[in-house]
Amino acid sequence: MSGGYELQRTDAKGEGVFATRSFQVGETVMVGVIEAELDHNHAHASQLSEKRFVLHGGFIAKVNHSCEPNCGIHLNASGAHDFVARQPITAGQEITFDYAMRNYTVEHFAAHCQCGSPRCRDRITGWKDLPSGRKADYRGFVAPYLTDIDNQDATERARSPRTDRAGVASPDRPDPPGSS
Ligand SMILES: [Zn+2]
Repeated sequence: MSGGYELQRTDAKGEGVFATRSFQVGETVMVGVIEAELDHNHAHASQLSEKRFVLHGGFIAKVNHSCEPNCGIHLNASGAHDFVARQPITAGQEITFDYAMRNYTVEHFAAHCQCGSPRCRDRITGWKDLPSGRKADYRGFVAPYLTDIDNQDATERARSPRTDRAGVASPDRPDPPGSS
C-alpha cells in the first residue's frame, strides 16, 4: 500500500480505487505500467493508439469511469498512461477518469453509466462519440493519439486527396515485448 490510493469495494460499482491522501490539480495520482500487449479491445483494455491495446498493471485497470472525472491521462516516458488530477482530490474520494480520455471506441459497456454525476451522458462512449464541448473540457488530460486523430481528420477534410491516417496519427507500432 503506497502511493496514496487503495482498492475498496463500492455499493454500486464493485471495486474502485480511492485516494488515501489529497492531491492537487496537475499532480500525478497513479503511475501507469504496461503489463501486457493485447491483440484486440476488451473491457479492461487501454487503447494506446488506433491499433494498439494494452493492459495496465496494478490498480489502474480498477479505476472506474465517471462522466465528471477527477483525473485525466498523461502519457509517461514508458508509453503507459499516468492518471493526473484535473480536480482537487481529497482523502477518501474515489479516483475516476473518463474512458473516452483513453479509448477511441468503447464497445464493451452497453449498460447505462452509473457514475451519478450531474453531467452523466448515460452511455459510456469512446472519444469518437464524445461531444466536442467535453473534448474541450478534457484538453491536456487525454491520450495524445486521440487529439492526433482529430487533428488528422481535420487536415484530411481541409485538403483532399486523403492521406493515410494510420501512417501519421501514431509512430510505427513497436513489437510487443515478449512476443516470441
Ligand atoms: Zn456517467
